[in-house]
Amino acid sequence: MKSEIETVSELKKSLLKAYDDEKQEIVLDILSQLSKVTATEDLLKKSGIGMTVGKLRNDKNPDISKLAKSVVHKWKKNVTEAAASAKRKPETPKVPAEPHKIKTPQPDQKLPSPVVSESKPKIDQTEPKKAHSPANSTSRNFASDNVKLNSTGDKVRDKCTEMLYNSLCVDNNTDSNKLLKKAVEIELEEYKKQNGVTPAYKAEIRSFFLNLKDSKNPNLRYSVINGTTSAADFVKMSPEDMASEERKRQDSLIRKDNLFKAQGAGPQEAETDMFRCGKCGSRKCRYYQMQTRSADEPMTTFVTCTNCNNRWKFC
Ligand SMILES: [Zn+2]
Repeated sequence: MKSEIETVSELKKSLLKAYDDEKQEIVLDILSQLSKVTATEDLLKKSGIGMTVGKLRNDKNPDISKLAKSVVHKWKKNVTEAAASAKRKPETPKVPAEPHKIKTPQPDQKLPSPVVSESKPKIDQTEPKKAHSPANSTSRNFASDNVKLNSTGDKVRDKCTEMLYNSLCVDNNTDSNKLLKKAVEIELEEYKKQNGVTPAYKAEIRSFFLNLKDSKNPNLRYSVINGTTSAADFVKMSPEDMASEERKRQDSLIRKDNLFKAQGAGPQEAETDMFRCGKCGSRKCRYYQMQTRSADEPMTTFVTCTNCNNRWKFC
C-alpha cells in the first residue's frame, strides 16, 4: 500500500512533467485526480503539492487555472476544517509553529500562550463586558476618571503609567483604583526590566498600550486586570503571546496561504533590475514577495540573481 504522501508526490512529478511537456490534457487529468484528495497541512507541506498546484492558478489555459483554483480552494477548506476540529479536542492541542522553508530568525517565537484562551470563561464571568453601554467605556480615561497618581518624580514614567491606565480602562467598568494599581505595577516591572527609561522601555510601553487597548483582544486586558496574568509575567510576554485570537487566526490563514505559494523558481517570480547582486554586481534578478510572518508585518522580498544564482532576502 502506498501512503497518501507517496501517491500525491508521484502525481506531483507527473504533473510537473506534463506541464513542462505542455501536455495540457494530462495536466487537467492529474488536477482532477488531485481534486479528489483530502489535503492535510502535513500532506501539503511534505509533498509540496500545494505550491505546484498554486502556481497553476496563473496558467494561461483558463481550464487549467480554473481547476487549479478550485483544488486550492478545496484544500484550504480541508486544512481549515481539520484545524477547527483539532481545536475542539482539548487532548490534541494544535501547535501551529511548523518550520518554514525560508524563515527569518524569530528568537521570541514561542507557542501561543494558553493563558489567554483558557482564562476566557472565568473572565467573562468576572467582567461582564456587555453589562454597560459602550458610551461609558469609550469615553473613560485617566483624566475623566479623576485618577490621582503618586508621581515617581519622572515625567516620562508618569506619562507611561497614564498610557497604561488608558489602555486598561477600555471597555470595562473596573474600579479606577484597581486599574491604577495595575498600571503602576506594569510600569514598575518594565522599568526594572529595562533598567531605566531607555528606548526599549518606551517602545515596549507603547506596544503594551496598543495590545492592551485592542478591542479585538479583550482577554489580554481582562487577564491583566483580574490578575490571571501578573504584571511581572505580562512584561515578559512576546508580541506573539499578546496577539489577539483574531490576529492569531489571521496569522494562521497566512501560513496556510503560503502552502500554496511558490517558493522556488517559477512563473510567479518577476524579472527586475531594481536590485543589484552583492556578489557579482549584476542587475539581472528575479524576485518574489511573501508574507512570512503575521498580517501586520511587511512582506519579505526574496531575490535571486539570474547571473550567479546568489539569493538574498529583505523586508
Ligand atoms: Zn550575482
